[in-house]
Amino acid sequence: MHPMTILSVILAFCLLSCGGKGNKEEAKSTTPAQPVISSTATPEFNADSAYHFVARQVDFGPRVPNTTAHKACGDYLIAELTRFGAQLYVQETTLTAYNGDRLESRNIIGAYNPENPKRILLFAHWDTRPYADQETDATKHHTPIDGADDGASGVGALLEIARQINQNDPGIGIDIIFFDAEDYGEPAFARTAKPDTWCLGSQFWAKNPHVKNYRAEYGILLDMVGHKEATFYKEGYSMQYAAPMVEKIWNKAREMGYGRFFIQATGGSYVDDHIYVKQGRNIPCVDIIYTSTESRNGFGDHWHTLNDTMDNIEPATLKAAGQTVLEMIYNR
Ligand SMILES: [Zn+2]
Repeated sequence: MHPMTILSVILAFCLLSCGGKGNKEEAKSTTPAQPVISSTATPEFNADSAYHFVARQVDFGPRVPNTTAHKACGDYLIAELTRFGAQLYVQETTLTAYNGDRLESRNIIGAYNPENPKRILLFAHWDTRPYADQETDATKHHTPIDGADDGASGVGALLEIARQINQNDPGIGIDIIFFDAEDYGEPAFARTAKPDTWCLGSQFWAKNPHVKNYRAEYGILLDMVGHKEATFYKEGYSMQYAAPMVEKIWNKAREMGYGRFFIQATGGSYVDDHIYVKQGRNIPCVDIIYTSTESRNGFGDHWHTLNDTMDNIEPATLKAAGQTVLEMIYNR
């Protein structure tokens, strides 16, 4: 073979393999230095502000129901939503965990433009897992996690969105719900095999919405949206029930230069708060959640471990998720 031919074969192979490596690589080459916001009406999501809201929650300690950290963090979230001009609803209730534990719980809800029948529902869970049961060392399984990503990141991004909505009327109804007791689900070591032990707060709300006959056009769930290595695949149930909204969100993210995070491929299907909102209220929901095709459990390797700390949280990831949601609100 002529050396030149070999070279061109190598070149062609390289082009093919580089092009076929997947969206991560593709996104890198097309990502502009500055995200392009297609609508001037969309406010700028302040990533440092969101990061601060995440850190404040983590500072309380693990937000496990029935602890002082949980109570203090709940009070903080109520104070922040009030400061950002939302109409507040606090659902206080006692929920029963898989093991019979009685969990003093609060769903914390902030409504904007409550009289507007056209509404979008944004939600995240604010409690954290009492068990680091994904640690390889079983002696750590009963230690509560920081939940910087799993819990605090979604709430932090939504607090920043609340702050923006308070300054810029979106002309549509927005409800922000911080669900409690999402992450008290049955651990593998318990082996009771009870159904529906996760998402207790959203299960309660779905049966007892804060407004009678509550309706929203669609919902967006933010969960684990702060990790520096986050990738958001199109979640399976979201594709099943809300495919047009999924496509809209992922396309907007790509247009704004966030293709590195929002991967144009379908990932796994996960039972999360969005399932109960869909089942109970018939609201199609999109789950924006860090999942991975390379990790051992389908999520990031930090998931439900003691490594879910602030060290992994990066403003750039919060920005990608938060700015995309703002774009869905202001540039509909
Ligand atoms: Zn979790």
